[in-house]
Amino acid sequence: MTANDGRRVLRMSSLFRSLKVRPSGSIPGASAESLLVACRGPLLVVAIGYALLLYVLLAEVAFNPTGPIHIGRHFDGRRFWDQSTVVHPGVGYDGQFYYYLARDPLLRASDPGSFLDRPAYRYARVLYPLLAWAAALGQASAIPWMLLGVSLGAVVIGTVAAVDVVRLLGASRWLALVFAFSPAVMVGLVADLTEPTTFALVAIGVALHLRGRHRAAGWTLALATLARETSLLVPLGFFLHAVWRRQWRESSAYALPQAVPAAWYLWIWARFGVLPAAQAPPNFGLPFSGAIYRAGVLLGWQVPLLGETAPASPFPELVFVGLSVAVILLGLTRLILHRDVFSLQLWLQAAAMFSTAALVWEALISYGRVLGLLYLFLGLALLAARVPPEGCSICARMASAACSLHGGRLPPATSRQRSAGSSLQHDRSGG
Ligand SMILES: [Zn+2]
Repeated sequence: MTANDGRRVLRMSSLFRSLKVRPSGSIPGASAESLLVACRGPLLVVAIGYALLLYVLLAEVAFNPTGPIHIGRHFDGRRFWDQSTVVHPGVGYDGQFYYYLARDPLLRASDPGSFLDRPAYRYARVLYPLLAWAAALGQASAIPWMLLGVSLGAVVIGTVAAVDVVRLLGASRWLALVFAFSPAVMVGLVADLTEPTTFALVAIGVALHLRGRHRAAGWTLALATLARETSLLVPLGFFLHAVWRRQWRESSAYALPQAVPAAWYLWIWARFGVLPAAQAPPNFGLPFSGAIYRAGVLLGWQVPLLGETAPASPFPELVFVGLSVAVILLGLTRLILHRDVFSLQLWLQAAAMFSTAALVWEALISYGRVLGLLYLFLGLALLAARVPPEGCSICARMASAACSLHGGRLPPATSRQRSAGSSLQHDRSGG
């Protein structure tokens, strides 16, 4: 950036500050420009952090972009390999399936079962490999770079959406960095997985929801379902919360776009003779069976059944397992006192995680990603509880009945929260 550019940015930012009508505490009408100005600091940190992360990642594999894919020899993807492709002995990791799908997005191969472990299940998550293929303009040699590029773009866009969300909830824009550097997003980027794309779409969906743009939010979340089907819980949560508040038009905005992934699954069914869900791995079992299994492995009480290894010092991870179980229990019970949309989203995530099996809890890299949305909605539910109805930007923009933080039939406890909330605001303005 030249000195001239710097001056121009400064001039622009003061211009946007002067244009802003409302005080920064309530940001109901925050314009796109003021959002971009607010994002500059967090995006600079994201740029530096991810440049370092990518440098370390790629330096380890001599700057060969096929290294992070973790291709294993077990699945016969030879048709997609050349002299420069890094191929490991063993089964590899999930990134290899997205790489193969990006190389053959129409799945023209007559034998997809030879290079995909569960063809219908993997093909259901078509969005990320399809974007990488499109960004590479179909060029095979560019696809490994574009798998990283699409994820990097998703981190940037997702961070902008996260800044918007935390500002709409009256919190510091720097909290968006928790999203950008969350384990799910970081691990997903370095291993060419679907999480950065999925989480960015979920963040955009949440921002649009808070802005009352439910139709756009619904379509964005339909794309998130096509990136990773587990994110279907998010539009389901918005749908149920709207039904509960008798906001019929809002509820249909989240339900109808899901016809697109549904049609995609039916097409996969016609093609492979099996629905994607029928090929899903056995991820569910008895309540907390997965968490108990992992804790047992960490403590040496349980023989590892899935070929995994326990870390030398199990205690940091044991703390995380215990914390996650506590968050699941909190998520299951929080709805009793809190009826905001994020407490409902948290309940759905907690209900889904409640009975995840050993396969999910095989390694930190696996359950750390799966728990990503649970922790995201825990954070949003805690932030939402700090927004009093009087200072709520969403109540101010819409009828308060339509505010998904304060609308609907609220439990008696709410009047108590309301006074606690307003005293909180007095404290804030006083401090
Ligand atoms: Zn409100």
